Amino acid sequence: TEACLKAIDAADALNAFVHKTPELALERARAADARLAAGAAPSMCGIPVGIKDLFCTEGVASQAASHILNGFRPEYESTVSAQLRDAGAVMLGKLNMDEFAMGSSNETSTYGDAVNPWKVDDRRLTPGGSSGGSAAAVAADLCLGATGTDTGGSIRQPAAFTGTVGIKPTYGRCSRWGIVAFASSLDQAGPMTRTVRDAAIMLEAMCGHDPMDSTSADLPVPDFEAALGAGVKGRKIGIPREYRMEGMPSEIEKLWADGADMLRDAGAEIVDISLPHTKYALPTYYVIAPAEASSNLARYDGVRYGHRAKLAQGDGITEMYEKTRAEGFGPEVQRRVMIGTYVLSAGFYDAYYNRARKVRTLIKRDFDTVFADGVDAILTPATPSAAFGLGEMVDADPVQMYLNDVFTVTVNLAGLPGIAVPAGLDRQGLPLGLQLIGRPWDEAGLLNTAQVLE
Ligand code: GLN
Repeated sequence: TEACLKAIDAADALNAFVHKTPELALERARAADARLAAGAAPSMCGIPVGIKDLFCTEGVASQAASHILNGFRPEYESTVSAQLRDAGAVMLGKLNMDEFAMGSSNETSTYGDAVNPWKVDDRRLTPGGSSGGSAAAVAADLCLGATGTDTGGSIRQPAAFTGTVGIKPTYGRCSRWGIVAFASSLDQAGPMTRTVRDAAIMLEAMCGHDPMDSTSADLPVPDFEAALGAGVKGRKIGIPREYRMEGMPSEIEKLWADGADMLRDAGAEIVDISLPHTKYALPTYYVIAPAEASSNLARYDGVRYGHRAKLAQGDGITEMYEKTRAEGFGPEVQRRVMIGTYVLSAGFYDAYYNRARKVRTLIKRDFDTVFADGVDAILTPATPSAAFGLGEMVDADPVQMYLNDVFTVTVNLAGLPGIAVPAGLDRQGLPLGLQLIGRPWDEAGLLNTAQVLE
């Protein structure tokens, strides 16, 4: 813990930790020492971790990287961070992210950009988003693991951009209680770590049934670590032809083919599969996610949490809402709230929101079909490119930024588990990741398969 705290102070330029909690960390580390000495050490005893700013942490600033939550200190702890704490993990502080987890580059944060510890010459690169601070902190060895959340790729894309491992569990595996909601039918928490083994250990501590979240699954939690090392002999791995996008860089194609070869060499059967509705995934996601966000973010009204705008003489409650929300939300969040409100409005509900829900079902059925055909896992690239430069994408057309999520959003729409695992470097020497998508609840199988690739 002391070594990590020192490393964090020396790495301020990465802007990964946005609230540091050194006293609390040292106190918890001492408690962990005592538990270790007593011989009753839980799985994460004394392991220093970072917590994404989206998780409510008792008495510690939790702002979802938004100005509108300025000064918000929750009186409660999210279930996932409480489980980590109870498993002995030592929280070092809160990690940077995109505002309300909306973004793919960590550039929408009220705290400013998080920076990727990998670089090419002097170019400052994004660590990805929205869990950019988590990815940067793990990649720079500021902590041994970090929590992330993934609504459309926010664990897997930053993991791929920083050469780390990130797993989004099956929807319902981890409790969403106490995590600031973005799109409730898509959001899942998961670990970001250096190795697949660490991901297995940390995931086990994070998941489990929680009566406080009505969508939390009442299923036993497997011993993911003990299940490791089983390999992929006899497992059937699908390569979906629709993910071979036009204009895909040859390096990504090669990475993908090499990954398939590695799995084949390890005894897996590689099969060509089809997921025909893949091309509708991005537009479907960018209707459903903003729709749910516009509803979830209605609670930030200047009354209950954080920031409230200064009002002028004669202003009423409507002016307070308007001014507070105009000042408190950044441009990307405002864009999502407007899109979401539009697609949910009486005149457009059927044309957009209802239609997107139907297409979502078709996307899920594509996966059901290939799994019913005996496919155990699906191999795809994690991202269409390596990390891009900070400032290069954010001012362009927002749709360009959304295209980053092309390989990841299907997994959230279908509620499936997905893992990103570092698989190689591009010609500039930047990390590239592969993604494995699994059957519902088969995180153990995914971790095992990922281990063959790492
Ligand atoms: N980049 C996607 C978005 O902006 C995904 C974000 C996420 O998974 N939280 O919505």
